[in-house]
Amino acid sequence: MISGERAAAGKSILSTLRTDGWAIWGTSRTVVATFFGVTSLTVALSVPVLAHAVATGSELVAFGVLLTLALVQAELSRRVERVRRWIGDVPHVNVTSVWTFAGALLLPAWLAAALAVTVYTHLWLRIWSGMAHRPLHRVVFSASMIVLSCYAASAVLSATGAGRLSHDWAERSGNGAALAGAALAFALVNAGLALLGSWAVTGRSTASVLFAVDGDYGLELATLCLGGLVAAAYVFQPCLVAFVFMPLFAMHRAVLARGLELAAATDQKTGLLNAAAWHNMAAAELGRARRDNSAFGLLMVDLDHFKRVNDTYGHLAGDAVLIAVATAIRAEVRDYDSVGRFGGEEFSVLLPGISETDVVATAERIRHRVTTLSVEAPTELGRATIESLSASIGVAVYPHGGGDLEKLLLTADTALYKAKNTGRNKVVSLAA
Ligand code: GH3
Ligand code: MG
Ligand code: MG
Repeated sequence: MISGERAAAGKSILSTLRTDGWAIWGTSRTVVATFFGVTSLTVALSVPVLAHAVATGSELVAFGVLLTLALVQAELSRRVERVRRWIGDVPHVNVTSVWTFAGALLLPAWLAAALAVTVYTHLWLRIWSGMAHRPLHRVVFSASMIVLSCYAASAVLSATGAGRLSHDWAERSGNGAALAGAALAFALVNAGLALLGSWAVTGRSTASVLFAVDGDYGLELATLCLGGLVAAAYVFQPCLVAFVFMPLFAMHRAVLARGLELAAATDQKTGLLNAAAWHNMAAAELGRARRDNSAFGLLMVDLDHFKRVNDTYGHLAGDAVLIAVATAIRAEVRDYDSVGRFGGEEFSVLLPGISETDVVATAERIRHRVTTLSVEAPTELGRATIESLSASIGVAVYPHGGGDLEKLLLTADTALYKAKNTGRNKVVSLAA
């Protein structure tokens, strides 16, 4: 790299650091509190761990080997990560747990933590800095998650008397169970903190968050298994460690492919289905309802006087309202109901296998919840709290509301139009 380029790169990282440093303050109080809670806990637990910061020569060698492998793998997968830059904020699975979990099994806790922090710093500097969905505070949160997971795994190994993985390890009975316990502790702390983070950001924290991307968490667990094998290979036959690269690379590609698939179906602003994907779900549901002679409901939700929110508080605040409404609608429906963003401030909801009474009751719940929203949003003059929102909802139910999708959408749209024309903030249901 010539010196001018180096200076430019340095400058861009510095400016990213500066903007990213502020990004945390643009988030909600819950996110700020969760971030500082988890990072403070990490620092507090690291003080006594660092007080015993000694390592043998062979542990320092193991640290060097794992760090080198992690950096090589990160560099090799830069292209895959760069593509992920374009596909936005899909739940993130990070294959670096292979190295950090192996570190937790082979290294003293302080050195395992140092490995995790170094790996994440490298990823941020080389890949994530500047990615909209990987702001600095999120990377720091992820690194804290891994450090705490390493501490949990180390604690299990010490508490069971198994100690760190070494040559004579297999001779002691009960060490296999201790290893499984360490993996479980790592996975549980990691999953628990992932749920906490997700709750702080979206207000939702169900197991489906972890398994949201059809088995993404399965991939996270698979990386832990590979991490265990890396640690064992390192102790018993170090050259076998190289065998982990190919499966790791294939897993990373699988995550990317899944991410692309998901991005193609997702509305980037709200994380809901986009119009095309919602349409596909509705067409599939119609086919099922025809076959089974069952009913399903369809809602069209349109925010009332949304233009005023934009005019009063600005477009960014409008976006925050759209995200809050999307989250509110999702919270009021079942996991298998499909919620889509149809256009600007219009949402569509598909409610399979449900009677007309229940469809209207669900619509009423959504309508009511929107009126109770209190959205903290950024404006040019600082943060503002936006309240007194409302939505009008048009309802259509198959088969009474229409025998095909076009007819059903027309029925729901006509009902919505009527709700708008008769005072807004109401639910209207019409027969075909
Ligand atoms: P009504 O009660 O009749 O529905 O009035 P309304 O103001 O909600 O509806 P109108 O269709 O007049 O305005 C919709 C506004 O939504 C206009 C447009 O600027 C805004 N909008 C559309 N997409 C987005 C978006 O992604 N972000 C933001 N902030 N605003 C958007
Ligand atoms: Mg509209
Ligand atoms: Mg509107």
